[in-house]
Amino acid sequence: MCQGSVPPKQPLTEEVRRAEQRRLRTNLREKGHAVTSRRLAIYDVLLQTNDHICVEHILDAIQKAHPTWRMNKTTVYRTLDLLQELGFIYEMRHPDGRAQYELALRGPHGHLFCCACGKVQDIDTHVATAFQQELRAKQGFEIDLINNALMGLCANCALRAQD
Ligand SMILES: [Zn+2]
Ligand SMILES: [Zn+2]
Ligand SMILES: [Zn+2]
Repeated sequence: MCQGSVPPKQPLTEEVRRAEQRRLRTNLREKGHAVTSRRLAIYDVLLQTNDHICVEHILDAIQKAHPTWRMNKTTVYRTLDLLQELGFIYEMRHPDGRAQYELALRGPHGHLFCCACGKVQDIDTHVATAFQQELRAKQGFEIDLINNALMGLCANCALRAQD
């Protein structure tokens, strides 16, 4: 399972969560998808977490909230694909292929992944934009910082590595 983020994300207010659930219901209906309690519950896990979260953690939260539901990873993945297609969440892949998901509410941004502690950090938008523009200008390369995390050591782990 994944390790969350540095710094930790603040929880969303009840009001924002309810507004988001309404927005999802409307959007599903408008695009011709069924409004199911499972889809809403999976999105609610992301709303309640308000952080980068893996499929195992989502499934765990669903099983705690709805012990009688039979849900497996495939169902969660399918719903996450749909939420992504509708623009409600982002997927961030680690270099080893594992993925974490987060709300699209925060807007597109890049990611750093610490290979020692496994924590994720959002890249400052100005830093990411400057980096992308430099690479584009100098090497014509379009780097995808939103869906792919850059590997390395976080400040804490880098300090520890020096000891
Ligand atoms: Zn996880
Ligand atoms: Zn670290
Ligand atoms: Zn993020």
